[in-house]
Amino acid sequence: MQIILSDVLGFCFGVSRAIALAEEALAGGCAVCTLGSLVHNPQETARLAAAGVRQVETPEAVDGDAVVIRAHGARPETFDALRARRLRIIDATCPFVQKSQRIARRFNKQGMTLVIVGHENHPEVQSILGYFPGPAHVVASPDEVAALPGGITPGIIAQTTMPEETFQAVVDAIAARYPRFAACDTVCSATRERQEAARRLAAQVDAIYIVGGRHSSNTNRLAEICRRACPRTVLIETAEEITLADLSGVEKLGIAAGASTPAWLIQTVIDRLEALAGQAQQS
Ligand code: SF4
Repeated sequence: MQIILSDVLGFCFGVSRAIALAEEALAGGCAVCTLGSLVHNPQETARLAAAGVRQVETPEAVDGDAVVIRAHGARPETFDALRARRLRIIDATCPFVQKSQRIARRFNKQGMTLVIVGHENHPEVQSILGYFPGPAHVVASPDEVAALPGGITPGIIAQTTMPEETFQAVVDAIAARYPRFAACDTVCSATRERQEAARRLAAQVDAIYIVGGRHSSNTNRLAEICRRACPRTVLIETAEEITLADLSGVEKLGIAAGASTPAWLIQTVIDRLEALAGQAQQS
């Protein structure tokens, strides 16, 4: 069995930077909290917790010296609440998310109605909504465009981890319904590169593992994209989930991983697959 890695996989620069900032503060002797999970990967979150990074869900619950704002960003009122408590804020908001926040503000000044192509409960979407004071809408697919109100001028952006084709399909549906609108494609380059590389790989293998958190948006999108080209697409969080049934009859096996999957976890999957391939050769 040949194991082929995606050309681009694992941590994006925004997640790497957030983790590096938290680790730097820890190394400097700070008691570090994060508001929400720093990365949507349970194994990496457990590693950080073991190193001393505490996760809390509200500004009121922060009890360390420093608080890290994760790459997804936070609403302005969250920053205000942390400042009021005179906490040291380590702002790891990804520059791509900051760009979306700025566009949301601009759309508001231009009198448009913000439409985010994404998932309403995702923390990045929630942070961006905080920068748009007016009524805003979140749609996950072009089918949901019909439910938007009439008489508005939509200003459309994307959650950074959405598939390009979903963003474009929503823009097309809005163009067919509204005479005036503006669209800024804010899918980030890290997402685009991982999705394109995984799509290419899925087309040339018999089966593909997507390594990443089950609750990670970018990992789930990668699995969706790969499944279209390769029905034997399997999302796994850890190497222990690999089964011989997954590998039955597979000559070429692909491995891709979302932007929230650490390199050490991808390596454990490769190690287990190589061990299984070695055992199969001997038997
Ligand atoms: S997925 Fe994109 S927007 Fe999100 S943290 Fe990574 S680089 Fe930034």
